[in-house]
Amino acid sequence: QNPEPWRDFDRSKVYTADLESALHYLLRVELATHNMLEGEELKIFKDFVTLVTKLYPDGGSVVKLMETLSDWLLSLPLQRIPYQAVLDLVDNKMRISGVFLGAELRWVGCQGSRVGLRGYPCSLWTLFHVLTVQHDAMPTALDNTGLEVEAAPVLQVMRRYIRTFFGCEECGRHFEQAAAASMDKVETREQQILWLWNQHNMVNYRLAGSLSDDPLFPKAPWPSPSLCASCHEEKNGVHVWNQENVLRFLRHHYSASNLSPQYSL
Ligand code: FAD
Repeated sequence: QNPEPWRDFDRSKVYTADLESALHYLLRVELATHNMLEGEELKIFKDFVTLVTKLYPDGGSVVKLMETLSDWLLSLPLQRIPYQAVLDLVDNKMRISGVFLGAELRWVGCQGSRVGLRGYPCSLWTLFHVLTVQHDAMPTALDNTGLEVEAAPVLQVMRRYIRTFFGCEECGRHFEQAAAASMDKVETREQQILWLWNQHNMVNYRLAGSLSDDPLFPKAPWPSPSLCASCHEEKNGVHVWNQENVLRFLRHHYSASNLSPQYSL
C-alpha cells in the first residue's frame, strides 16, 4: 500500500523533485549510518559534495545548499567530522539563511507502485546520469577542484561513493566488480555518459523479473523504442544499439532543459 497520492508524470522527462529527494535521502538517511566521517570516508564525501555543487543543473536552492556545505567542509581544518554536525548544518543553519533542502521525500519519476520499490536507488542512478551529461555540457566546471585530473571524474566519485556509503551492499559489490573491469578504460566525457548507460542496462538485464522489479516499471533495456526509436537497430536479425543515437538521446534526456520542476518545492 502506498499512502502517498499518485503523481502523474511523463517518462520522457526528468524531475527535479527526484534529484532533490535523492540528496535529501543521501544526506539525512544514508549518511546517518556513519557517526563520524574521517579519513578516506570524509574525502569521498567531500568529493561527492564538490561534484554536485559544480555540476548540478540549476543554480537554485539545491546548488546554494551544496555550495554552503562544500565551503564549510573545505574550510574545516578537522580530520574528523561528526555526522551530527553535517545534519545540523543541513537542517538548521542553512534554513536560517533561507537555503534548505525539502524536508520530505517526494518521488515522481521514481515513485513505486508500493512502498519499498524504486525511490532512492532510482533517484541515485538518475542523479549520476544527469551529472555525466552536465560534465559533458560544461567541460571546465570541475577545474581547480582536484577532480579534473581524473579521466572520468563523475564515474570515479560515484564508484567511491557507492563502495563506501550506498546502503545496498550487494549493489556496491556488483558495481565495484563492473568498475574494476572497465571503468579505467573510460577516457572521454562521451564514453563516461555511455559507460554509465551501459552499466545501468547490465543491471536492468540482471534484475529483470526479480523481487525488486516494480510490476508497473518492469526492468528492460533502456531507452525503449517508444522513447528513442533510432537508438534501436537490427543487424542480421539481431538487435543492436545505435550508440551515436543513444548518446544524442542521453544528452537530451538528462540535460538541464529536460528537467521538470513539477512537484518540486
Ligand atoms: P532504475 O534501474 O533505478 O532506473 C531509474 C530510471 O533510470 C528508470 O526509470 C529510467 O528512466 C532510467 N534508466 C533505466 N535504465 C537506464 C539506463 N541504462 N541508462 C540511463 N537511464 C536509465 N539492485 C539489486 O537488486 N541488485 C544490484 O546489484 C543493484 N545494483 C545497483 C547499483 C547501483 C549503482 C544502483 C544506483 C542501484 C543498484 N540496484 C541494484 C538498484 C536497482 O538498479 C534499481 O535502482 C532499483 O531496483 C529500482 O529500479 P527502478 O525500476 O526504479 O529503475
